[in-house]
Amino acid sequence: MKAKGKIKVEQEFCKACGFCIEFCPKQVLALAKVYNLAGYYPVELVSEDCTGCGICGLVCPEACIEVFLDQS
Ligand code: SF4
Ligand code: SF4
Repeated sequence: MKAKGKIKVEQEFCKACGFCIEFCPKQVLALAKVYNLAGYYPVELVSEDCTGCGICGLVCPEACIEVFLDQS
């Protein structure tokens, strides 16, 4: 059984530093095309392949990524 992950990005707090994009082993993160109120293009999940490993949440200096694991 393959665990599936999901993330929630608090888009208004993202500063678009790109750490999560760089460290995601599945390369499923990218900057959005629409900017937030602070003028940054926040990160979003762009594929179904997130494993829920949690690395993005750990490396985010703004602590704006929450990771969920769906074991079903
Ligand atoms: S939980 Fe892991 S696989 Fe999913 S987006 Fe974050 S770093 Fe990538
Ligand atoms: S690490 Fe955090 S602040 Fe940096 S781009 Fe990713 S979500 Fe945004």
